[in-house]
Amino acid sequence: MNILEILAKRRDGEVHQPEELRFLARGAATGEIPDYQLAAWLMAAYLRPLSLPETAALTLALADSGRRIDLSDLPEPLLDKHSTGGVGDKTSLVLLPLLASCGVTIVKLSGRGLGITGGTLDKIESVPGLRTDLTPDQAKEQARKIGLALCGQSPDLAPADGVLYALRDVTATVGSVPLIVSSILSKKLAGGSPRVLLDVKCGSGAFRHSLQEATELAVALRAVGTEVGLEVRPVITDMDQPLGRTVGNALEVREALEVLRGELDSRFARFCLELAARALALCGLDAASAERALRSGSALERALVWLEAQGADLRQFDEGRGLPAAPVVREVPAPASGWVDRVDARTVGNVAMRLGAGRLHKSDRIDPRVGVEVLVAVGSRVERSHPVFRVHAASEPDAVSAQESLLRGLELSETPTERRPTVLLEP
Ligand code: URA
Repeated sequence: MNILEILAKRRDGEVHQPEELRFLARGAATGEIPDYQLAAWLMAAYLRPLSLPETAALTLALADSGRRIDLSDLPEPLLDKHSTGGVGDKTSLVLLPLLASCGVTIVKLSGRGLGITGGTLDKIESVPGLRTDLTPDQAKEQARKIGLALCGQSPDLAPADGVLYALRDVTATVGSVPLIVSSILSKKLAGGSPRVLLDVKCGSGAFRHSLQEATELAVALRAVGTEVGLEVRPVITDMDQPLGRTVGNALEVREALEVLRGELDSRFARFCLELAARALALCGLDAASAERALRSGSALERALVWLEAQGADLRQFDEGRGLPAAPVVREVPAPASGWVDRVDARTVGNVAMRLGAGRLHKSDRIDPRVGVEVLVAVGSRVERSHPVFRVHAASEPDAVSAQESLLRGLELSETPTERRPTVLLEP
């Protein structure tokens, strides 16, 4: 077999055999196939999309380009939870301890934020002392003891995906559904859990903007998941406005703790309960036990055990106090009275990123203190000069520039507007 034959086949729209995709993935992981040939294959695969069996074969090939974690000796039910990424999405910080307190075992390998999309690792690292550099084996042992662990994506898991994903980023080939599906699911296979709750974000703050695009991705994720032996439950959720009240790392940890403490009236808390119910049903457990765990304090208790197990100093960290705080906090008043028609997730995500809460480039450092509080939601009423955002900034000039930009993401209507549901569709 040689790479030129594989390239010609994709160019001409012929069907790949699984061994050809294994050859490609192995060559990407070892570096034996140079980037220019991989990039040529990616563009050909973008223009001539892989079929479902080919996507499943590529998923397996990417997963097998590295190690697969064996979680089979951990207590069942095992679950993984994945989000395609958005603005203010701190759901994993709540769901992990919540589901563990309901009897689920979770080893979650998470990424860092890039662009307007936040990353769970960055958020949780704003807790003083907390470490996420557990090896997969250490994470597994921790999950055996306390039901959950969170760590970074180790480079020996699906290494071929790491190479192809970086090339897709610079060759305008990220947006191919079969390539996205194989990329996401190969990492889920390598992570070792047999079932995955997949939160497919839809809207301006996500990489799928329309419901049609999100549905196409969700359906493909479930179908390919079944082919490769994963039980995937996709849920399409709103990312047109930021999720919850905060965007920014320490701010989001504080908001997640509020939910874990049983404050269940917010849109974000209800969203966590909606996803938790689906996750528990997927695991064959009582969907109603999530709310009981939040109200009884058992989810919070599990969260504190978890944070301490990963190095947090709980004496310094009491109900969110002890988290880093920004030196400059400024409110942004509403320019007029009206009903909120739009709080654009992309605008808020960009402002938070420029304040330092996110990265433009992979190597950028983030500032855990900064971000934006969103004090209104679509459907709510605001009065002129009442605060609509609160900016947490490292300096006065940063705060001023954020204040101006945020108002560009706010649209008010003179007539009442409808609240947006958080769960949009379950294909
Ligand atoms: N997330 C991934 O891991 N891969 C993609 O291709 C897109 C989103």
